[in-house]
Amino acid sequence: MYRIIDGKAISAAVKEAVKTEVAQLKEKGITTGLAVIIVGEDPASKVYVSNKKKACEALGMISREYALPENTTEDELISLIEKLNSDKEINGILCQLPLPKHINEKKVIDSIIPEKDVDAFHPQNVGKIMIGDYDFVPCTPAGIMEMLKYENIDVSGKRCVVIGRSNIVGKPMAMLLLHKNGTVTVCHSKTENLKEICREADILVAAVGRANFVTADMVKEGAVVIDVGMNRVDGKLCGDVDFDSVKDKTSAITPVPGGVGPMTIAMLMKNTLTAAKKQNNI
Ligand code: NAP
Repeated sequence: MYRIIDGKAISAAVKEAVKTEVAQLKEKGITTGLAVIIVGEDPASKVYVSNKKKACEALGMISREYALPENTTEDELISLIEKLNSDKEINGILCQLPLPKHINEKKVIDSIIPEKDVDAFHPQNVGKIMIGDYDFVPCTPAGIMEMLKYENIDVSGKRCVVIGRSNIVGKPMAMLLLHKNGTVTVCHSKTENLKEICREADILVAAVGRANFVTADMVKEGAVVIDVGMNRVDGKLCGDVDFDSVKDKTSAITPVPGGVGPMTIAMLMKNTLTAAKKQNNI
């Protein structure tokens, strides 16, 4: 019998804890603030940014949104980031990706000071994750680790398979599982015998970006399956895991929607709080 890992409930608990700490900081005269920058008109990005703003406000944080036109130059964007880098009211800076093609994403990410890089995309923060000495972790893998902790799923000694090797999900996910003593395999589009490798996983994380990619024949009996995918099929949100066929083989599984998605925003809030505390030597 499987259980559904309820990302909504876990994210609500994380946010409640953040809200309490934000209020405690406020009593000491310390505010917590996040700046979110969006360039252009991508509808999905606009929804994400609006959700981040709402979450900040609900937790008592200062939220600033910078909606810049599509034709914003790289220099203009970087000069805004430089201003925010030295803005005392802002503890975290997030630049919503993807950026328009004429802007070099790497240069933009590098221009956010590591102390305010609450997405943990800056090379310095990426390096810190590698050596296991970090303040911020990219929000999606951080959210997955929080879910596993909340569900008392012990990673130590387990066979973990991550499908996907992106810088924002797959790679940091693999590092976090490794730091918790998982035995980790990372798969990608060139992986041979993918099915067989997945079938060995006690914990299987799917971050592929293909609807219903993981099928029952790829899952070991009793595995924990984490579905990161957010795919649109006929206007409906669906994950990378074929939930209906896979669920009965698992011991625990995340749904889409209501699984990893809500955790991502909660961890952004937590990273912003961490940034505020660090910047105030708390
Ligand atoms: P991405 O950058 O496109 O990476 C996808 C990865 O999947 C790549 O490493 C790719 O391999 C691998 N892949 C593609 N086809 C494959 C195949 N046939 N067999 C094995 N591996 C394959 O995507 P991402 O940014 O990591 O995101 C992955 C999914 O998670 C997307 O659906 C995205 O929308 C979702 N997402 C959700 C959240 C959330 O909050 N829930 C946050 C971020 C992302 P190669 O490297 O070889 O190309």
